[in-house]
Amino acid sequence: MIAILLGPPGAGKGTQAKRLEEEHGIKQLSTGDMLRAAVARGSRVGKLAREAMEAGDLVSDQIVIQIIAERITEPDCANGFLLDGFPRTVAQAGALDAMLEDIGKRLDAVVEIAVPEDILVKRISGRISCADCGAVYNEYFDPPKEEGRCDRCGGTNLVRRKDDNPETVRQRLVAYREQTAPLLPYYDNKGLLKRVDGTQPIDKVAHDIDRALGVVGLAPPDC
Ligand code: ADP
Ligand code: ADP
Ligand code: ZN
Repeated sequence: MIAILLGPPGAGKGTQAKRLEEEHGIKQLSTGDMLRAAVARGSRVGKLAREAMEAGDLVSDQIVIQIIAERITEPDCANGFLLDGFPRTVAQAGALDAMLEDIGKRLDAVVEIAVPEDILVKRISGRISCADCGAVYNEYFDPPKEEGRCDRCGGTNLVRRKDDNPETVRQRLVAYREQTAPLLPYYDNKGLLKRVDGTQPIDKVAHDIDRALGVVGLAPPDC
């Protein structure tokens, strides 16, 4: 399956994509995670992306399109993948259409996780993630079982993202409204868009996404 999780910053895309990968074996491709890794490594892409990310602006289409074009042809994507945070502009969506056509594949579904802005701001202010394994938690809504320790890997390196500060979040919401929200009618016109109420508890959102993707009751492959 090839699917997209679409939604504003803080909607729960990463949380749900990681769960779908664990429960259903659908590979998560997060451009945000890839770009943060590039920044941390200090690679050429990282150097080009850093300033825009810290300002809450989008990184250039050219950079993210190239990252995704290379990534989806790797062997672990052969059975499908779930895009988290890509595409974010109409130009990226057009490039994705062309890439999929090139490799003879097509998009199965686009799931919008809809959440109003006041809730997003609160969620982002409480977001923490494990620097060792990438698991995401929330101080208010989804804390780790033991304070300061990752449930998944036991690590104690729970960190806040540099761009999760009020000023940058405001700019990220503007970027979503102006550049990403136009993708909703883009995919709706293709008959691919499904909308899920992202204000519900994590398990309920998960259930609705599984239903939208038609993966209810599917076990991960080879497990
Ligand atoms: P995104 O990838 O869309 O930016 P995340 O998955 O990182 O969003 O979620 C943002 C924050 O909100 C995280 O701290 C996460 O734990 C929390 N969160 C995710 N889904 C929900 C939900 N349904 N209800 C409450 N908090 C949530
Ligand atoms: P969130 O969904 O919580 O806003 P992401 O981790 O998806 O966060 O993205 C973090 C930042 O990385 C974005 O604010 C943007 O600067 C950059 N980024 C991620 N994906 C893209 C993309 N597809 N196009 C342009 N910039 C991107
Ligand atoms: Zn961890």
